[in-house]
Amino acid sequence: MTEKLYDSDAYMTSFSARVLSCTEDEGGRFSVVLDRTAFFPESGGQGGDTGRLGEAAVLHTGEDGGEIRHSTDRALPVGATVEGEIDFSARFDRMQNHTGEHIVSGLAHRLFGCTNVGFHLSDSETTVDFDRPLTRGELDRLEELACEAVYRDLPVTARYPSEQELRTLDYRSKGSLHGAVRVVHIPDYDDCACCAPHVRRTGEIGGVSMPDFMRYKGGVRIRLLCGARAAREARACYRELSAAAQLCRLPRLSCADGVRRLSETAETLRAENAALSRALADARVASVPAGTHGNLCFFEPLLEEGGRRRLALGACERTDGVCAVFSGSDREGYRFCLAGHGLPLRGYADRIGTALNGRCGGSDELLSGRAGASRKTIERYFAGTGFDAARE
Ligand SMILES: [Zn+2]
Repeated sequence: MTEKLYDSDAYMTSFSARVLSCTEDEGGRFSVVLDRTAFFPESGGQGGDTGRLGEAAVLHTGEDGGEIRHSTDRALPVGATVEGEIDFSARFDRMQNHTGEHIVSGLAHRLFGCTNVGFHLSDSETTVDFDRPLTRGELDRLEELACEAVYRDLPVTARYPSEQELRTLDYRSKGSLHGAVRVVHIPDYDDCACCAPHVRRTGEIGGVSMPDFMRYKGGVRIRLLCGARAAREARACYRELSAAAQLCRLPRLSCADGVRRLSETAETLRAENAALSRALADARVASVPAGTHGNLCFFEPLLEEGGRRRLALGACERTDGVCAVFSGSDREGYRFCLAGHGLPLRGYADRIGTALNGRCGGSDELLSGRAGASRKTIERYFAGTGFDAARE
């Protein structure tokens, strides 16, 4: 059994150990077991440590059949003594987030009767699941109190209480526990059965933030950010908010009103544009004499998709050829719709797309697509192409 050095000293970054076994895994990796280790294996929702063992890179640490296994990129000689070094910045980040989670879970339990039913701590994301829903207001309260626990800079300790003491101790745990139970204690906030390394004092957590939550399995899933993660995200959000506020010409803390107004204006303009497009399409259709012969090709630079479709379908009823409607310009390219009456248009799509230096698709009644060709080339193509002939 490997001695767990991280159990009594979460801040140990380097150590020496003897290699007990080394076996080759799938994918060219090696699985190394040591007589002692400071590498914490993935468990209880927390990711495993990475770092180095001698010349080998430790890419992951896991537990298999009660054994701590270091996944390395090269073999290590059995019986040799190796120097281990863990990637402490990644570990410390996890310690900050894990200890923050204990405070939040302890508070949620005490204040709202929530039980933590899920915890996932990866290098980019921490989520905590509670068995009952919480409101944004309740989460804000939790966040404030968790931050208070950080400012109080309380000691965080771990110990193995006797079986007798455990029977009377009020602590959080997930399911039934066997053997010695390690209880992590944060005075006034939480006692929880946990095998993971934690920060020494709550002040080291730095800060606690819970920006997002969603309903999850009858309860709630919270996204938790502690330490540098919380600061990084707050900085990024602040920058984005400042840029948005500047665009709205409003103070940062009321720029949502500005964005709402802009969005309402955009919606009104979209509806007006669609109505104008319809009117323009109808006027252009009316200008085509019934019984026209040959293909029709319209260029309406600003017509939107609905208008293009309406014009193409309406005008093709008045000719024995096809009707194509283009919006855009030679410089930026064109979007188009093409309609034909009683023609297998879908079968022509590839050929039309290639001829217009673009692509299109749709049904036998209507094709839509993009064209990179110039207006002159497009007009020449439709003037000289008989779509009935193309079918033969
Ligand atoms: Zn824990």
